[in-house]
Amino acid sequence: MPHDVVIVGAGPVGLMLACELRLAGTAVLVLEDRAEPNAHAPGVALNGGVVELLEMRGLMDACRSDGFEFPMAHFAHLWLNPAQLAARYPYNFAMPHSRLIHHLTERARSLGADLRYEHRVRGVDGSVDLDRVAVRVVGPDGEVTIHARYLVGCDGVNSVVRQAVGVGFVGDEQPFHGTVSDFAVGPDSVLNQHLGAKEYPAGLLAVSPIGPGMVRVMTGEFDVEPPSRDGAPPLAEIQAAVRRLAGVEFTGDEPTWSARWFNVTRVAERYRVGRVFLAGDGAHTHFPLGGQALSTGMDDAVNLGWKLAADLAGHAPDGLLDTYETERRPIAQRACLTVRAQVALLHPLTELREVVAELIRFPDVNEYFVKMVGGTDTLIPLGDDSEGEDVHPLRGRRLPGVASAVRSVPELAEAWSKGRGVLLDLHDEPEDGRLDLTGWTDRVSLVRAKGLSDIDAEAVLLRPDGRVVWAAHRLDDGKGLAEVLLRHFGPPTGVGAAS
Ligand SMILES: Cc1cc2nc3c(=O)[nH]c(=O)nc-3n(C[C@H](O)[C@H](O)[C@H](O)COP(=O)(O)OP(=O)(O)OC[C@H]3O[C@@H](n4cnc5c(N)ncnc54)[C@H](O)[C@@H]3O)c2cc1C
Repeated sequence: MPHDVVIVGAGPVGLMLACELRLAGTAVLVLEDRAEPNAHAPGVALNGGVVELLEMRGLMDACRSDGFEFPMAHFAHLWLNPAQLAARYPYNFAMPHSRLIHHLTERARSLGADLRYEHRVRGVDGSVDLDRVAVRVVGPDGEVTIHARYLVGCDGVNSVVRQAVGVGFVGDEQPFHGTVSDFAVGPDSVLNQHLGAKEYPAGLLAVSPIGPGMVRVMTGEFDVEPPSRDGAPPLAEIQAAVRRLAGVEFTGDEPTWSARWFNVTRVAERYRVGRVFLAGDGAHTHFPLGGQALSTGMDDAVNLGWKLAADLAGHAPDGLLDTYETERRPIAQRACLTVRAQVALLHPLTELREVVAELIRFPDVNEYFVKMVGGTDTLIPLGDDSEGEDVHPLRGRRLPGVASAVRSVPELAEAWSKGRGVLLDLHDEPEDGRLDLTGWTDRVSLVRAKGLSDIDAEAVLLRPDGRVVWAAHRLDDGKGLAEVLLRHFGPPTGVGAAS
């Protein structure tokens, strides 16, 4: 018997996808090369877009004791003011990604995902267009072939899955590279005086606390060749980079962990080949600035999970699985564009930086950039967009303020904890039957949430990924709901049998 869904890679994106599938009751097997969950993931912060998704799924509570909210955001290290957006903007959260991986691992396990470590995927055999995919895996018992109805490559930048199905990774590398490394520091370490991120004529230096007596040092230099492209950079190389950048001499022991990074921007040519999908860094990569790489990847997982589950449950509308690529690939392309623009502004020789710094003082520009770098401005193309004034401006977006409403509206938390769609009734008076979900109550919950946020709508239909697909300014405009339910959630149950 084939597995329903096999995910390659237990990084944050693969684990999030495993959780999404389990919410809907889909059987899932995760194959991970490492012997155990990654304890040295390079990231140290979650942007608002990631926080929003974790809030939606009730995962932020577990993370809270491992980090702290920080009311700051930047565009190319030009500081923005998220506080101006008040409650509509989810906060950023400082937390080592190893802890995010830990919490997602726990959640995936508790939901019943089958996680297998020391299982390296080597390739995909035969056709990916028949009723199953054959995955070649090397594990503790040697090489085996595992069959899956769907295979998802969440296996990072060098994705074996992407290469196995012959999908190009289109883009380039630009001359900006550096190191990332962890150091144990005493109270007298000079690194403590350089906490934060700062630009210098040659590039940038960032020093972030990652735990008691531990800091993560990230160096980045423009227009010079890296001393090496392979292996972990040793202490002497990191010291030299810090000296060149900031003129600072620091002493100490070898880093407890270190890695190199390069300024590579690439997007997969396709996100789907037959029964094989790509998500996260395996589908898109850019310089790690502002957390957009992770938020784009986590959003991939949340977009794909409910669609695969619907297909396997037999109620997906025609073409639903193809919407994964049409909805998500443009978001990755935009993230690559906006991050490249930021890297260009970080270059010490650009005067444009000063001009943009002036623009950021305008509240509208500040809001625009805060949402961009937080990954919360994403508007997915729904493909069925009707032209004209009737299209509600929220369509294709997440609903501002709805993620945190999970804490105050238990019915919403309940619906999302099961990966269901939600029809929000926001009207002052209980609705009188105009919001008719007959035939879809097995997939969509009606939730009363009067006064939620300052949304100009009395009823809103959200998919399981939190995206608005229908909204009515007035309950009287309730027309069209049935067609949208059909288009996104598939045929109603029981209706065919009755007729
Ligand atoms: C230096 C640096 C700093 C960063 N800082 C931040 C930050 O502060 N905030 C932020 O939001 N983002 C940051 N990022 C980006 C973030 O780390 C990535 O976007 C994120 O890790 C992508 O998650 P993923 O699950 O797609 O891939 P990965 O995290 O790369 O996970 C892929 C998993 O697949 C496994 N795997 C690979 N090949 C195979 C195989 N053949 N078989 C089985 N398993 C396999 C790997 O072992 C790994 O566990 C940073 C990135 C870098 C490089």
